[in-house]
Amino acid sequence: DRINIAIDGPAGAGKSTVARLVAGQLGYVYIDTGAMYRAVTYSAQRLAIAANEQEQLGKLMKDIRIRLEPGESGQSVFVDDEEVTDKIRSLDVTRQVSHFAASGIVREVLGRMQRELAERKGVVMDGRDIGSHVLPNAELKIFLTASVRERASRRHRELSGVDVVPLEQLEAEIAERDRLDASREIAPLIQASDAIELDSSGMTIDEVVATIVRLSRT
Ligand code: C5P
Repeated sequence: DRINIAIDGPAGAGKSTVARLVAGQLGYVYIDTGAMYRAVTYSAQRLAIAANEQEQLGKLMKDIRIRLEPGESGQSVFVDDEEVTDKIRSLDVTRQVSHFAASGIVREVLGRMQRELAERKGVVMDGRDIGSHVLPNAELKIFLTASVRERASRRHRELSGVDVVPLEQLEAEIAERDRLDASREIAPLIQASDAIELDSSGMTIDEVVATIVRLSRT
């Protein structure tokens, strides 16, 4: 039988890569919820709406259409038919997303979309609050972690060639995003009591994927 798998954890722990590969092996649908928060942030920035302008954000969330399409090397993201796959990975969006993700109306609307996407089972959903809040009944919950140093180095390798950001700065920004995500009032980043913690620091991606696939079959 198909199940739902929640993969949560701090920024840069490798959740999206791992979730995509797990979904591929199981023939499941991969849903990157961080991309949804990023898409909202990108749209708000385009409309010059600040993270504390709840009324404006409410209007934005009322008619925003976010579409995730599986692609070759990940998933393509569309907002109201505009492709934003690369735009939502910009430093501007990354630096602001946690502030928009703290908004009640943003979380309410995205949480509802995420539950709908998981209704028919067979999804691997990665995020911060999937096991603890969005899909509390997910059959398998993973909390994927790694040291801040390790996570910053991975991002550094990903970014080099695109943006040149010193490793120390990335480390500070990741730590700050974790702090904001863990301390917000609504659905903070937290390990669900029934989640299995996996520290990926000394593991290869394939080892992490194999572990999760094995757990999904028990
Ligand atoms: O996973 P990613 O780093 O792309 O997520 C971007 C941001 O979106 C996170 O730092 C967090 O603020 C927010 N987020 C969230 N809840 C989720 C997924 C992402 O608050 N389920």
